[in-house]
Amino acid sequence: MNETAKVVIGGGIIGLSIAWRLVKEGQNVTVVERGQVGQEASRVAAGMLAASAEVGYEEFELYALCRESLRLWPNFALELEQDSGINVDYRSNGTLIVADDRDAAVALKRGFDFQKEHQYPVEWLTREETLALEPFLSPRIVASVFASEDHAVDNRMVIKGLREAILRHGGVIKENSTVESVDLSGTNVVVHVQGQDSVIADTVVVAAGAWSRQIAGLPPEFVPPVRPVKGQILELKMERPFELNHVVRGRKAYLVPRTDGRLIVGATSEEMGFDKRMTAGGVHAVLDGAWDMVPGILDLELSSIDVGLRPGSRDHQPIVGYSNDRRIFIATGHYRHGVILSAVTAVESAKSILSGNDSAVLRYFSPKRFSHLDV
Ligand SMILES: Cc1cc2nc3c(=O)[nH]c(=O)nc-3n(C[C@H](O)[C@H](O)[C@H](O)COP(=O)(O)OP(=O)(O)OC[C@H]3O[C@@H](n4cnc5c(N)ncnc54)[C@H](O)[C@@H]3O)c2cc1C
Repeated sequence: MNETAKVVIGGGIIGLSIAWRLVKEGQNVTVVERGQVGQEASRVAAGMLAASAEVGYEEFELYALCRESLRLWPNFALELEQDSGINVDYRSNGTLIVADDRDAAVALKRGFDFQKEHQYPVEWLTREETLALEPFLSPRIVASVFASEDHAVDNRMVIKGLREAILRHGGVIKENSTVESVDLSGTNVVVHVQGQDSVIADTVVVAAGAWSRQIAGLPPEFVPPVRPVKGQILELKMERPFELNHVVRGRKAYLVPRTDGRLIVGATSEEMGFDKRMTAGGVHAVLDGAWDMVPGILDLELSSIDVGLRPGSRDHQPIVGYSNDRRIFIATGHYRHGVILSAVTAVESAKSILSGNDSAVLRYFSPKRFSHLDV
């Protein structure tokens, strides 16, 4: 065991997955989490691993990063299952992006042409082909795009798995521990935890999601410019004869089936600061959008409503890499893509932290793009 400590601030999917990769390399790792691990955005997420369906026009670097993460995911999931003994419900059925009226079909076709031009693995399906794949879709569906490589995972089980795997490898998880500040004045970093002893680290990973900018003492030009973007999401219970096997996405909502019969339906995207209240309007908007595509959901039991705060950066791309102080590594700003990007973020961040070098894969996402410093 290497005795110099790595401290990860924040036990969401990003912090935990980096911690897991580091403990596997024999590092002495402590995760410091304000509440219980994985109870914020990473718990609430739908778990889509959606590269083709989610990334917008001209977001080529983000798309490439998502594709790289998708490539890693099957082994990442398998290895996590082996390390933790927990099944993460990796589903490779693919994603249907549906158009439920003529306007939506025109927009979908425009997106599809762009995707084909750039060799995305997508296929155009007619109404009949779409309904043959998912008979519970609305008969009003005009067409769809099938993204066979856009998979899904149960993010809550991933969190459980990561927690277990970190502990099994000898990592430390300090819960109910809020980091107030980091002190960079000495050789080591002193991590001040509210009401508790400080933790000493040679490297600190800042992975506190939407709260990352609240940690005092970070190099001022490298305080990550992230804000919370509120998402309300629902969980329904599928009951036969109702069935949905693929992730289904439309303009206003998406539906993500789990193998155990849960159906995740999301999500709003609201600029409401740190407000985490559930609202009638939010629930209505999500159900209305989902109902347009899959009318049969109206009979299903509504089992829960959740709210999460996505860490959105100024350009909506992740912020991952060293600050100007090589003891501070930033890993936040994953916005709508934190689950899919957790694999590549973890693997590349751990490599970078172990070698002390910047990751070529992550170069476009370096925190230096916001620092206005020539570093
Ligand atoms: C409704 C919704 C649906 C989504 N669906 C998807 C999806 O399908 N696919 C996808 O890829 N992404 C999805 N996302 C995005 C994804 O959830 C996020 O990008 C991801 O969870 C971010 O992970 P994180 O670890 O950075 O943040 P979080 O999960 O928020 O974790 C940050 C952690 O840091 C802790 N913390 C904060 N401050 C401190 C402090 N001072 N000291 C100690 N700990 C601290 C918090 O308590 C928290 O546990 C969705 C998000 C939402 C809200």
